Amino acid sequence: MLIGVDFGGTQVKAGIVEGGEVVRSTSAATQAGSSPSEILDLLADTVLALAPQPESVGVAIPGEVDADGKCWRLTNVPGFAGVHIASELSRRLGGCPIAVENDATSAALGERLYGHGREHPSFLMVTLGTGIGGGLVLGHMLYPGANGFAAEFGHINVDRSDTAPLCACGQRGCVEAFAGTKALIRKYEELSGEKVSEVLPISVSARRGEPAGLEVFAMMGEGLGRGLSMVQNLLDLNAIVFSGGISASLDLIEPHVRRALRAYTFAPPLAEVPLLVSGLGERAGIIGAAYLTTL
Ligand SMILES: [Zn+2]
Repeated sequence: MLIGVDFGGTQVKAGIVEGGEVVRSTSAATQAGSSPSEILDLLADTVLALAPQPESVGVAIPGEVDADGKCWRLTNVPGFAGVHIASELSRRLGGCPIAVENDATSAALGERLYGHGREHPSFLMVTLGTGIGGGLVLGHMLYPGANGFAAEFGHINVDRSDTAPLCACGQRGCVEAFAGTKALIRKYEELSGEKVSEVLPISVSARRGEPAGLEVFAMMGEGLGRGLSMVQNLLDLNAIVFSGGISASLDLIEPHVRRALRAYTFAPPLAEVPLLVSGLGERAGIIGAAYLTTL
């Protein structure tokens, strides 16, 4: 029995996965200000609520870990740098084997096994949200990188100017600073003079043909397209797969992504890479995580 855990920073979701389907799941909210030890207890309790004697557990986290399951950093949850998540969880779960991986990389594994990866041997998974994550599959193989940092697509620099927008990572001009949720909201408020707290009203505005909404998605598409042109020049992938709530608006950004790909890639075939939306949706995190222990 495979168990996948999707640790989203504020919520823990766990599920039993069979044949690429979540057959039973549960979730729990993390308390603000919890210590790493308290969060690890919560992760373990969530798993035990599903299976009193788990056989293997994969965990997807919104941060980076090395191959042994030691955390480099977890941007939205303080205190996790240096914590050996795999061994700490294993100790709480009766010595059960644990694999820990970045959430976008886990989602790419789910996509490889049960999504577009069945037809496309090499692809980049781009997770759209507050952060822009990336997971890379090359020739059907998940590629986490030597240290666990492969495909940090959100932090590819696409604007070196002094006036480029600031990114959460401290640099200016990253893809995320043009295409992350906060960037979209900031730009929309600037253009429309209207306060919004989420992306939905921006896509409504764009679908009505209003300049503010359209311009926000143009900025997002241009940022993603510039970053993807660098990826394509390096890797010549079979497909780019987008996931995350906002991937439902891919039709609004696709023309701009394609224009940038055609403008900045080295050769025409690189620019015509298929741009796809993940079919696994919300379940991708749990499904991908569950199969981490099978690698
Ligand atoms: Zn950045």
